[in-house]
Amino acid sequence: MTSHSKLSNLDDLVFDNRFIRELPADEETINHRRQVIGACYSRVKPTPAVKPQRVAYSREVVALLDLHTDACEADNFTQVFAGNHLVAGMESYSTCYGGHQFGNWAGQLGDGRAINLGEIVNQQGERWALQLKGAGPTPYSRTADGLAVLRSSVREFLCSEAMYHLGVPTTRALSLILTGESVIRDMFYNGNPKAEPGAVVCRVAPSFTRFGHFQILTARRDIPLLQKLVDYTIRTDFAHLGEPSPAIYLAWFTEVCRLTAEMIVHWQRVGFVHGVMNTDNMSILGLTIDYGPYGWLENYDPNWTPNTTDAQERRYRFGNQPQIAFWNLGQLANAIYPLIEQVERLQQAMTVYTETFEKGWQDMMSGKLGLKAFDSATDEQLFADLIALLQLVETDMTIFYRQLAKIDCTTQLPLTDADFDAAFTYLSEAYYVPEQLNPAYKTRLHDWLEAYSHRIQKDKTSNTERQLQMNKINPKYVLRNYLAQLAIDQAEQGDFSMIEKLLALFRQPYDEQPDKEALAAKRPDWARQRAGCSMLSCSS
Ligand code: AMP
Ligand code: MG
Repeated sequence: MTSHSKLSNLDDLVFDNRFIRELPADEETINHRRQVIGACYSRVKPTPAVKPQRVAYSREVVALLDLHTDACEADNFTQVFAGNHLVAGMESYSTCYGGHQFGNWAGQLGDGRAINLGEIVNQQGERWALQLKGAGPTPYSRTADGLAVLRSSVREFLCSEAMYHLGVPTTRALSLILTGESVIRDMFYNGNPKAEPGAVVCRVAPSFTRFGHFQILTARRDIPLLQKLVDYTIRTDFAHLGEPSPAIYLAWFTEVCRLTAEMIVHWQRVGFVHGVMNTDNMSILGLTIDYGPYGWLENYDPNWTPNTTDAQERRYRFGNQPQIAFWNLGQLANAIYPLIEQVERLQQAMTVYTETFEKGWQDMMSGKLGLKAFDSATDEQLFADLIALLQLVETDMTIFYRQLAKIDCTTQLPLTDADFDAAFTYLSEAYYVPEQLNPAYKTRLHDWLEAYSHRIQKDKTSNTERQLQMNKINPKYVLRNYLAQLAIDQAEQGDFSMIEKLLALFRQPYDEQPDKEALAAKRPDWARQRAGCSMLSCSS
């Protein structure tokens, strides 16, 4: 196969299903709900869909699998990624994991509606596991149906790809298929069940291993299998670390701490709120995984969470994500402790999380403001004052940074009223409630802009250069909750054009796309309280 060859036929895909080859299988093969002991996975077949219809596919993910887009146009593609047919080499299975949900140990969870199809090694030698979400019940489905609705599947499909193009580590999405069946969901768990169209997303990642995969084995005192899974993970997902040994276990955990910190810095940079950071939703590779009731900050509010299921405690609010990731890593440390038995060394590894996060956050904030490098003497204060300012009045985070990049920071200081007015004209696009822009606010903004211009002048950065740098780190377009909802509303009526439009938009989220300016607009008033835009639940 030459480096240019692309497969037009799914039957030509080459699978290397290492997870199921090297790890122990559940002996039971009948698909009924149960506790699965002494095994990492159960073989299970997807439930066929009556009338599958392709909604969308991601051409970038198609390319990762060495496929030609011709392969996606064929009916076979729709059948396979709805779960109706396995091509040669595919072997379907669901995996066993546990987790802490909202801080409490929940025991066995597992792939309750995820069915893996196998792993592809592409021409670059990259390993890509394929996983259907919503293709029917598995031994891990507990009391639920194993299905997914179009609404949540559109959200997962679009957000995975948007996050990738935004530069945020994430699982990917190959395809989105309607099953032709309806699924009953009580969207807000308030006694209003409704039939919704069912759908299946095919997710793609180097692996789907979660913190909870290790936790369940330790909880069951199955230390030999824990060691087997850790060794397997190091050999496949972290091969660069070397052959597994107690020293390598620590190096591996340190690496997981580092990768997790980097992912969280990205979330804070783009204003992403995951919504359900349970330990079963934490990828061992530091990938954003399990797009459920996630949301994007519109007005900057660190206390915001889109997840109504978490409305009381707000455990997973935007500003708490860094602390929660640390807590989750602590649970992973507990899980692998039996292999290491050195508390201090594990704690030391966790400081790598804190250090990576702090350094990453400072660099990220410096980048967002267009500074050449973080200067501890001045910049801590500059950031703190800005963060306070962003919360004083309802300010759209994404628009604010893009507009900030446009202001002239090279005028002679102190800032004159005319300079301030010119800057304010740009920034005024970011505000939601004009009545909030009182003199007290303007004075604080004036002071901050003066300090900011002073800082930029110290760097001797030109306006053009600063804008260029800032626009590479501050996206113009994010998947605002109302945009996803518009795509869902139309898709439920059989019109998939908005999904395509957003997919195309998010290929260049940092570029100005003048014909798509409307998609950068701040949240319209109708979306403020509408279900799906400001409020979401785990019902999906
Ligand atoms: P989540 O925290 O929403 O990612 O899901 C928690 C657990 O519930 C996981 O084990 C999921 O596989 C499972 N789950 C969620 N929704 C369903 C469903 N509709 N059917 C079966 N299992 C589900
Ligand atoms: Mg999950």
